[in-house]
Amino acid sequence: MTTIKLHNTRTRTKEDFVPISADNVRMYVCGPTVYDRAHLGNARPVVVFDVLYRLLRHTFGADHVTYVRNFTDVDDKINATALARQQAGAEGTLEQLVQERSNETIGWYLHDMGALGALEPNEMPRATQYIAQMIAMIEDLIAKGHAYAAEGHVLFAVDSWKEHYGELSGRSVDDMIAGARVEVAPYKKNPMDFVLWKPSTEELPGWDSPWGRGRPGWHIECSAMSYELLGESFDIHGGGNDLMFPHHENEIAQSKCAHPHGEFAKVWLHNEMLQVEGKKMSKSLGNFFTVHDLLEQGVPGEVIRFVFLQTHYRKPMDWTEKKAREAEATLRKWRALTSGIEPAASAAPAVIAALSDDLNTAGALAELHRMERQITRQKTASNEPVDLLRGLLQNFLASAQLLGLLTPKMGEWADTDSVDLTAHAGRLADARVIAMQSKDFSEVDRLKAAYLAAGLEVRMSKDGVELVPGAGFDAAKLEGV
Ligand SMILES: [Zn+2]
Repeated sequence: MTTIKLHNTRTRTKEDFVPISADNVRMYVCGPTVYDRAHLGNARPVVVFDVLYRLLRHTFGADHVTYVRNFTDVDDKINATALARQQAGAEGTLEQLVQERSNETIGWYLHDMGALGALEPNEMPRATQYIAQMIAMIEDLIAKGHAYAAEGHVLFAVDSWKEHYGELSGRSVDDMIAGARVEVAPYKKNPMDFVLWKPSTEELPGWDSPWGRGRPGWHIECSAMSYELLGESFDIHGGGNDLMFPHHENEIAQSKCAHPHGEFAKVWLHNEMLQVEGKKMSKSLGNFFTVHDLLEQGVPGEVIRFVFLQTHYRKPMDWTEKKAREAEATLRKWRALTSGIEPAASAAPAVIAALSDDLNTAGALAELHRMERQITRQKTASNEPVDLLRGLLQNFLASAQLLGLLTPKMGEWADTDSVDLTAHAGRLADARVIAMQSKDFSEVDRLKAAYLAAGLEVRMSKDGVELVPGAGFDAAKLEGV
């Protein structure tokens, strides 16, 4: 069995990954707050941890990995969207509108992430289904002297955990106070103390608790749900590096104080952020877009995934249109190459080795390119046995599928078999012959425009006409041309 090495944020070193129990390797990843469509940056951790999930399943067996990713469905942003809808005339109570919004957003999320080839985690708990467990954990923290109630709020007392608070992100409490935008409130004993429970108004979602009607703070969710589903010690905790502080520090403080004999998460993995054409993605820069936007523009989910995999997860990933075009061309070529081929039982050892080295997806793709060159050489060496070529192709396909690429499910976009491009090229060639005589080029122009609109590249020379699928090719648009 290949040893997996992972960079552990907690120790700042690349370590051999040894699960607590190889029978049940357990991973928790912080999921989305479900108030709107996932933007492209939200998708990065999904793809990163999907690759890790696939690697763990490959290494330990598909039935021996438990992957949990939560949905935060209680949050001020969801409340704000529901309130806006109510003000715009939507029917129902605010609580119903909040729930509708959450359900709708979860549906979008699963669809969009599925389009990127992400497997669904084994468990996708919603925060609102674990309120009782959160209340129990908060009561336990108060009993143990790590939390206190004040003015309808319950706060975690950072001083009670001062010697460890900040260990993950490598900051001291004093540094954090100096650097962070901490919310100063009269009911806080220390400005760094964070909310475990807060009061709710009558209209907003709320639950009865020993501290009055209210709702949980964000951080306690992950502590309560990971404990319920994975236990007091589990193997891997993941998320974007923007969550390291304060969210993950707070999760550690809560979980370690509530369950002092547990380890909480042994290995912490954090992915770097995403940029667009070299700039931070932001609404103010006008370069903000969702996964859904890209899919609607005809960028296949598989292409997005391929572009993501080209950059190591601990480096900033730059999304560019050029990369997307190149990825599309590569995937078309690879799909044509493996058409009609069944994957081998396992991926190539070099691809597994690259992934096992702290998820070196760029290295794994480089290995796939090397295999492709070998296959091309094999094809031209006609005196070599056909079986050898078939074996190489099967290996290549299994390796790509370990990365979540070239899977049958994701291939529809590249399927050009259903349209006869040669026939279309013939029509355009015939129209050109007629136009040369009649001097009326309107039909030629019409066909050319239709083919371009369908995402085809039109190559016209005196030798003939060729139609080549380009970025965003959509066979459906050829109907009725
Ligand atoms: Zn979390």
